[in-house]
Amino acid sequence: SIPLGYFGGIGAASRQGILFKGGNYLDAITKINTVVFDKTGTLTKGVFEVQQVHVREGFTEEEVVQTIASVESRSNHPIAKAVGQYAKSRQISIRRDVEVSELAGYGLKTLVDGREVLVGNTRLLEKYGISFPSELTGVPETLVVCAVNGVYIGHLLLADTVKEDAKEAVAALKKLNIDNIQILSGDKQTIVSKLAGYLGVDEAYGDLLPEDKVAHVEALKSDPGRRVAFVGDGINDAPVLALSDVGVAMGGLGSDAAIEIADVVLQTDQPGRLAMAIRIGKETRRIIW
Ligand code: ADP
Ligand code: MG
Repeated sequence: SIPLGYFGGIGAASRQGILFKGGNYLDAITKINTVVFDKTGTLTKGVFEVQQVHVREGFTEEEVVQTIASVESRSNHPIAKAVGQYAKSRQISIRRDVEVSELAGYGLKTLVDGREVLVGNTRLLEKYGISFPSELTGVPETLVVCAVNGVYIGHLLLADTVKEDAKEAVAALKKLNIDNIQILSGDKQTIVSKLAGYLGVDEAYGDLLPEDKVAHVEALKSDPGRRVAFVGDGINDAPVLALSDVGVAMGGLGSDAAIEIADVVLQTDQPGRLAMAIRIGKETRRIIW
């Protein structure tokens, strides 16, 4: 049975939009010493905006945007939503008759009128042995690159916004003696490192596939002194949420899979609520013992 004090703690947390799925997590969260954040949708809003369109000679912007947006119309990724909105704002029609396969951490692949279309990051093109302009490698924004029948035809540059309370969230955790804070992301290392520097996060790992995130947290957990909380929002994050000592999901815009498997849900989507959750856990312990 759960000691009565835990109900008080769970209630106090829920009034702050923090959902504990059991009294045991109220206790477990006070023992966390390492916090690992997913980036997109967790520390950033996950609401991208298309900033620029680049096309290969011989192609028009309209063609390239139409091709990318048609493929992205089949995806729920935050990048896909941004591309759809951009096409709409430029009144570029999209085809809805395409069927795509989603390659987690890479992007999308499809056949349109017998032509193979790839839409995703540069890693996707590398995987298929397709060359692209070398300057794309150093670009500090999120890229959506497109290739048709093995030929690069153009790309979009997108930007995401950091959540208002992200910096404060990191500072608050440090005050609670969390001695190691990390970011894991499928996005590019340059972007992840820059964000980590801005937020004051200790370690930043980019270019990760979903299985790399799992391996990373498994490695952290092999150190018996570590107690790891992972904070994420995506379908891809579900296995890592399950693996960590305390899995924390974003409840507003987070995916159902993440919310379901998490131990704690931050219903306001604010990463700063994690520090509050730890404080409530500590306060509850103080009352019980
Ligand atoms: P994060 O770890 O930052 O939440 P994801 O694992 O969701 O990122 O995606 C990793 C990377 O894979 C993205 O940054 C993007 O480059 C690429 N990607 C995934 N899905 C798509 C898509 N639908 N369209 C374009 N790129 C995608
Ligand atoms: Mg994410």
